[in-house]
Amino acid sequence: MINSFSDLNLNSSIIEGLQKQGINIPTSIQANSILPALEGKDIIGEAFTGSGKTLAYLLPLFHKIDTSKREMQGLILAPTHELAKQIEDQIKLLAENSSFPITSLSIIGDVNINNQIKKLKEIKPHIIVGSTGRILDLIRKKKITAHTIKTIVIDEGDNLLDPKRSNVTKDIVKSTMRDRQLMLFSASIKPETLETAKSLMKEPIIIKSEDKPLINPNIEHMFILCERRDKFETLRKVLVAAKPEKAIIFVNNNEDIELTTAKLNYHSKDCFAMTGKISKEDRKLAIESFRTGKIKILVSSDVTARGLDVADITHVFHLDLPLKLNEYLHRSGRTARGNAHGTSICILTVQQLNIIKKYEREFNIQFKEKKVFGGVLEDANYNSSSKQYEQKNKSYSSKFNK
Ligand code: AMP
Repeated sequence: MINSFSDLNLNSSIIEGLQKQGINIPTSIQANSILPALEGKDIIGEAFTGSGKTLAYLLPLFHKIDTSKREMQGLILAPTHELAKQIEDQIKLLAENSSFPITSLSIIGDVNINNQIKKLKEIKPHIIVGSTGRILDLIRKKKITAHTIKTIVIDEGDNLLDPKRSNVTKDIVKSTMRDRQLMLFSASIKPETLETAKSLMKEPIIIKSEDKPLINPNIEHMFILCERRDKFETLRKVLVAAKPEKAIIFVNNNEDIELTTAKLNYHSKDCFAMTGKISKEDRKLAIESFRTGKIKILVSSDVTARGLDVADITHVFHLDLPLKLNEYLHRSGRTARGNAHGTSICILTVQQLNIIKKYEREFNIQFKEKKVFGGVLEDANYNSSSKQYEQKNKSYSSKFNK
């Protein structure tokens, strides 16, 4: 039975880095794949988003990278720019927290290739994360040194090895040395994917995550409907009604974070704008002030809230919904730490109700619809909004079916 990361023979700096992120116990996919990955085995891992699959491949990759060499050693292929960015964020965070001098670069299409070539030369990243088309292009141009790549990870393998588009991924894999390690992870694995993966691998180990998507049962999930233009006003009223002792408001971009903070502070709230622009020192100071209660509300993006472990956050508000499904887990998990209870409130338009339904299905949770009435947060009539929602959906589908 594996209960800690030290049972997995990982370097102690990596384990300390994880602790700084509040990560202490391996998830099922991590417990089962890290040891064989460290032994260099090829792996096919079936694990849903939120199961910790990114760290399941990043931790052995970190452990194995020879930081004394300035050469490309790991390649992570992802089907979307957004996923590539998220993986790169996890690499940078872990490198910083574990003080491992690992360098990384994301290489995606739609970005000037000459700039990418320049950066590849300058940084000589240990890990490259990116989309397959551009990576293959750079391998063919000999700007990515395929022969130094020791490990390739295919994230969302069902997508990248889909018969319609698997050729690019296969060509990348084939351009590397025969003794490289190949790992593939995907939420579900179709029989065709399994066959293609096996044809590229040497006796792969197949692992399935045994975890169910887990969300802390001490979190109450709510949503409030409003028009898009009324989102801020709704947030302001909800804050008055919910009376959070300590809260994070999630907003997706820097400009809106600053604007929301400025507007809230005008109404004498103790808010701080945690944008990607603030320096490391200011970020540290802000977190300390948040911890001690000098700052009561952090307005933040997903990126700057990552790894934040503050004990007594009573509320999480989503002024913007997260861009990716499993970020909802991550965000709402900032509240209800330990045995505490917490509340997660989404402020959304009726068009976004389908996302709430997805959260309910994916994470097996129930949302309550609320409204603010007379300065108090009360139950709202779920049926009426569902009806509106269904009507909207009907009109959308009739449009598309024409
Ligand atoms: P993923 O499935 O890779 O998208 O990860 C989902 C989230 O779970 C990320 O925010 C990780 O930081 C977090 N996470 C990964 N492994 C663990 C762990 N062992 N314990 C707690 N959180 C984790």
